[in-house]
Order: sequence, then C-alpha cells, then structure tokens
Amino acid sequence: MAERRRCHRCDYPTGMCVCAAIEPIFIPGRCVIVQEAKERHHAKNTVRLLQLALPNLDVILSTDHGALSILQAQLAAERTAWGLVYPSANSQILDNPATPAGPLPMQWILLDGTWKKTKRLLFEHPWLTHIPTFSFANPPPSQYFIRKVPSSKALSTLESVAYLYQLTQGLSMNALLQLQHRLVEQWQQHQPVAHQPPRQTEQGK
Ligand SMILES: [Zn+2]
Repeated sequence: MAERRRCHRCDYPTGMCVCAAIEPIFIPGRCVIVQEAKERHHAKNTVRLLQLALPNLDVILSTDHGALSILQAQLAAERTAWGLVYPSANSQILDNPATPAGPLPMQWILLDGTWKKTKRLLFEHPWLTHIPTFSFANPPPSQYFIRKVPSSKALSTLESVAYLYQLTQGLSMNALLQLQHRLVEQWQQHQPVAHQPPRQTEQGK
C-alpha cells in the first residue's frame, strides 16, 4: 500500500492533521516518558500528541541505552526528587484526600506501552522502581475510546500526564485533553463504516 501523505508537523496523515488544536503548555520541573520502542510507531499512541503540546517533555525510547543510563544516574543522585507514576503495592495515592500531603516530586517518570510491555520494562530496568512510586485511585473516566484499555480506570498516557499535572500543580490541562479529543474525532471520521459503532441513520429510525 502506498504511504499516505503526512503532515510535516504532527506526522498524522494530512486528512487527520491535529495541528489546529495544538496549544502548547509549559510544565514545571521535568517529565520523562520512557516509551517502549514499538509504541513509537503505533498509530494510536498518544505520546506524539504529548510531544506536540508539551514542548519541554522528554521522551526516552526503551532501546536508547545511553539516555537510560544517564537517567539512571540522575535518579540515583536525587532519589526522592523523582516520582514514578505506576500502580504497584507500594504506590502512594495521588488523588486520595486521606493520603497525608507531603512534598511531592517535581520530576516525574511515566511509562508508555501496554501493561505487559511496561511490566517488562520495569523488570529489565529495576532501578526505575527505586524512586517513590505514585498512582491514581479515582481518575476521571478515559475518553480515549479508540484503543482498548485493560480496565475502566486505565488512562491513556496523555490522560495520565494531564491528570498528574492537574493534581500536583493545579494546572489546567484542558488544551491537552482537547487535542486528544480532536484525534479521537479525526480517527472516528476516517474509519471505514464497518468499524464505526452503530449509530442512528435514516434507515435505522
Ligand atoms: Zn498537522
């Protein structure tokens, strides 16, 4: 199949360009996404949108051993300045009012990939779990309908970043969520009819 023409900025096929919906947000501190390498080319991955909307976001591919060892050294040097967003038995809950408030990290790491792949990432890089771990108990329902998620509480990586900065910095991340909404709309419009959810048509009435 011939390669469809792509937008030079957002890299989506030109008919699905999301550039008009990009409103850059500068996040304080540092935010690093460690991305499982195969996710990079997944058409429905949200990290591409994050990179367009958050100019100071860092993305490290799981195959970039050089960048990972620099990160490992940074984590070892200032362990408590960092937080890993990942659900585990030791995670501190970020959105539970009963959780005692303490100084929160300003430097965050999130993992991007399927559950299986992110588990594997942590297995291969156990040093990622040597920093405090945080998770969400009551996230808003995911609006990322175009990709299967393992549970009703699972968020896309973009939604996790948005919720994280809403909770910890009080930032409005609506522009970021709007960008994801735009992609979902574009995606649904460009699906062959057979793949669309049933809807009311003249015939169906
Ligand atoms: Zn574009």
